[in-house]
Amino acid sequence: MISYDVAEFGAPLQWRERETPVPQGSEVLLRTLAAGVCHSDLHLWEGGYDLGQGRRMSVADRGVTPPFTMGHEISGEVVAVGPAVVGVGISEKYLVFPWIGCGECPVCRGGEEQLCAKPASLGVFRPGGYGDHVLVPHQRYLIPLDGLSPAEAAPYACSGVTTFGALRKLGNVIETDPIVLMGAGGLGLMCLTLLKAMGGRGNIVVLEGPDNIPTAIGRLRGFKDALKEFPDVKVVLSKNAMYARPAASDLLKTMLKANPNQQVDGVLAANDAMALGAIEAFKEAKKKMSPIVGINASKEAVDLIKAGDMLASGDYNGLVEGCLGAEIAIRTLRKQPVPKEVMAKTSVVDKANYQQYETPAERRPCPTLESMGAK
Ligand SMILES: [Zn+2]
Ligand SMILES: [Zn+2]
Repeated sequence: MISYDVAEFGAPLQWRERETPVPQGSEVLLRTLAAGVCHSDLHLWEGGYDLGQGRRMSVADRGVTPPFTMGHEISGEVVAVGPAVVGVGISEKYLVFPWIGCGECPVCRGGEEQLCAKPASLGVFRPGGYGDHVLVPHQRYLIPLDGLSPAEAAPYACSGVTTFGALRKLGNVIETDPIVLMGAGGLGLMCLTLLKAMGGRGNIVVLEGPDNIPTAIGRLRGFKDALKEFPDVKVVLSKNAMYARPAASDLLKTMLKANPNQQVDGVLAANDAMALGAIEAFKEAKKKMSPIVGINASKEAVDLIKAGDMLASGDYNGLVEGCLGAEIAIRTLRKQPVPKEVMAKTSVVDKANYQQYETPAERRPCPTLESMGAK
């Protein structure tokens, strides 16, 4: 088998080849299908954790010394089992629970191996998923994937259980009260995923930092300017959904869930991905679809405009920028004059003109600087 090991703290991982283990007794050998890279791996690789105020925890002091194979978020497929293993079939796919304990102390016997004082965690104290095979000491650490994507499921073994643990501490409150998640990063988003899987009960508010993407700032300003002319239009929710379909969908779903009677008469999305998220949210909430507009005139949006699920999208497309950018680059290389500023005209794509946007970008003509009236 091969693995990429920490041969020395802080040095590039090293390719290592060795004998593929043969499972003994209760052991199960898996072929790795996916291995997550956890932030903890960076600390393990560096050799320690910064505890703040100049204090540092050395992993070597905890008994983790190179060489070792990291990777504690593992999905794999069974390739061999020890003679004592019952009911685990070859080529079955599993997520591996890596937080293995000594198996003998009262904590372990109480079923909380993850709290054992003598841990044998995979990817820390025992070889983990940064290799093509992983030896799991017992079948009780295997959770059937049941059709889940191995790559998507792998992080559940670490960030999944971390957030699950946090959510569980809240008890029944998650079914009745709104929950605020601070910082929707890897763990925050995982938390959202879990809340949904736990029945989607509870109202979720996602708090986001300020947007620093120029197009987002410009689009928001455009919306605000346009709204000034409509004093009777009230903004009931204005939040950053990160240009992302799931974030937008979650935000809207949350609002629809929090205020089922909240009337929504229109959705302005600063890009098509978020517009798609909004549509998804309305469909899921079984609410009558409000008019939704996005920006990009993406293939998905054009399809939805055609189907009547989306009102319109702004034709802000990469094709125009790409063509003009390439022309400017070529002219620069040829030392020809280039325009200081090019204003690409945008247009509204709706039911009336969507047909011209159905042609895939690669078959549409490339606009020239001249055709754009650039000097
Ligand atoms: Zn133990
Ligand atoms: Zn981890």
